[in-house]
Amino acid sequence: MPQKIPIVESILSANDRLAEENRARIEAAGVFAINIMASPGAGKTSLIEQTVLALHGKLRIGMINGDIATSLDADRAAAAGATALQVNTGGECHLDAVMLRDALARLDLGAIDLLIVENVGNLVCPAGFALGTHRNVLVASIPEGDDKPYKYPGMYRGVQAVVINKIDLLPYADFRMDIFKKGIEALNPGVVQFPLSCRSGEGLEAWLDWLAGQVNTATSKDGMEVNK
Ligand code: MG
Ligand code: ZN
Repeated sequence: MPQKIPIVESILSANDRLAEENRARIEAAGVFAINIMASPGAGKTSLIEQTVLALHGKLRIGMINGDIATSLDADRAAAAGATALQVNTGGECHLDAVMLRDALARLDLGAIDLLIVENVGNLVCPAGFALGTHRNVLVASIPEGDDKPYKYPGMYRGVQAVVINKIDLLPYADFRMDIFKKGIEALNPGVVQFPLSCRSGEGLEAWLDWLAGQVNTATSKDGMEVNK
């Protein structure tokens, strides 16, 4: 149905324009922002929880959670010490730049250094909607299987970091790490990867170091380098 293509394109370009406005607003406040995407149950909220706990006292963290119906995830982030805000998407299976704009209006950006956006659990359309964040992070997990980069290439192509969660389950799963990594490498050569377990804590340090480094570089006196 070729006649539908221009409509989709104009929706996406309107979203991109709004995403740029969001980015400008975030940067004007000296905040660094990441967008965390994953399938449901991969461990986005657990990763955010562990991150907030570990960086407590070093970085002031705000969290925006996109959830179809509940505020359970935002509650967990708030309990860990983040300034957390819930966006009920009303059934939408992804966040878009409009939803983030409305959420930003309700958040005190001056009170945070790092903004973590937890997208709706979905490996398809979140990749198509820019929000205005600085980095896209994908959380994969061992129980999902090693074929996910092959089945959801769009998601793997558009991210700047891949967290591989639940490595404590490797002994119990038929997960071929070499096949999985080969798939990632084909789609997104050189993308930084963090195998870890939010449950055991193994591997978390490398993720935390990378994230803190990204924030510090971006918000240093030289200004928001990520903007260029
Ligand atoms: Mg969650
Ligand atoms: Zn969607």
